[in-house]
Amino acid sequence: MNSDTSPALWIKDPLAILADGAERGVVVQDGRIVELVAAGLEPRAPAVKTFDADAHVVLPGLINTHHHFYQTLTRAVPAALDRELFPWLQALYPLWARLTPEAVDLSSTLAMAELMLSGCTLTTDHHYVFPKGLEDGIDIQVAAAKRLGLRALLTRGSMNRSQRDGGLPPDNVVQDEDTILADSERLVARYHQAGDGAIIQIALAPCSPFSVTTSLMRATAELAERLNVRMHTHLAETEDENRYCLEIHRCRPLDYLEECGWLNGRTWLAHGVHFNADEFPRLASAGTAVTHCACSNQTLASGTCSVCPMEEAGVAVGLGVDGSASNDSSNLMQEVRAAFLLQRGQYGIGKVSHRDALRWATKGSAACTGRADVGEIAVGMLADLALFRLDELRFSGSGDPLAALVLCGAHRADRVMVGGRWIVENGQIPGLDVADLIRRHSAAARKLQA
Ligand SMILES: [Zn+2]
Repeated sequence: MNSDTSPALWIKDPLAILADGAERGVVVQDGRIVELVAAGLEPRAPAVKTFDADAHVVLPGLINTHHHFYQTLTRAVPAALDRELFPWLQALYPLWARLTPEAVDLSSTLAMAELMLSGCTLTTDHHYVFPKGLEDGIDIQVAAAKRLGLRALLTRGSMNRSQRDGGLPPDNVVQDEDTILADSERLVARYHQAGDGAIIQIALAPCSPFSVTTSLMRATAELAERLNVRMHTHLAETEDENRYCLEIHRCRPLDYLEECGWLNGRTWLAHGVHFNADEFPRLASAGTAVTHCACSNQTLASGTCSVCPMEEAGVAVGLGVDGSASNDSSNLMQEVRAAFLLQRGQYGIGKVSHRDALRWATKGSAACTGRADVGEIAVGMLADLALFRLDELRFSGSGDPLAALVLCGAHRADRVMVGGRWIVENGQIPGLDVADLIRRHSAAARKLQA
């Protein structure tokens, strides 16, 4: 063994694993999966350390491709209950305008902790609210992700079309185009790790057609091209948005996206509920991916994303929990189940299995983030894994362990590994005082909602 390398770890004899030819588990070394161990075999590398996984179901780490961490501070807010997207946003913008750096730190930490405990190893976030005093919002999120050890693709969100310009948000949560572009460039230069194995990446993310100017959309696309980073936005989420686009931009949301220079392989879109069948091949040939947010779309009654026809047309589809004011949870494993139930209800038994739902949250989500080094258990991939136990009441009596995770409603991972390092052990995040976090986060939420 090369003296520069760390000892190999054999995750041995799992109860089940989402990988072919790995019945006896996987060997990880130096942050990567280096060997799959097939039935009846032993690892080729000698003197490996072992982790006995005979009580665990092993999945590729789940990948969350849409969220707004700060919204954990405004879950189940009475004024926003039972409203569709536009009035729901209008009820919440005034609360979000009071966000402070401390509130962003607490909400980001809490949301990522929730995600990690649900089996997530890579998350994105879309922070687009920048009231005065919150200029370092994304820097704060980067620091929180690094403390927790979670892989993160943080987006520099933005809004610059407020009520005075015919947009939806109030004037005190938007910034001007020059400020947004300069800060986007600063964040990419400071934090973005290009290429294989990245821990922190930055993408650019104007919020939506009804809160951003066409000029900012175009300038963002040019900047993303120049800096070689990904682009993200909300699109085709509701009928209201369709109407807004037709009235203001004189075209449908996807036409508008194309006009702005966004219909390409850098872009992944949140929701995509109201695309029509003619538009699926356009998304596919452009290489634009879509994040399905099953819980959020049901909570806000936005409609149902056409995941199956989109995939048949060749569009990559991943999953996202969406912000915690429209889910109102950050549990990615529960999102897998919600997507499974919603899409099976829509398209039927032959079209959607538990394996499809797990694939959306792994391989599909990896495509949304533009990464080829995560989303699958295979040799050469990063050692990002989620391990679940089946010794809870809800699993008792189950047959197929992989199906049981989805059908019986797994919601808590026992162990989570990122780049070969355990970031969750025995259902806990080492070093995180959860009770204290809840106390401080709840106090920040009360202040925001007061
Ligand atoms: Zn969203």
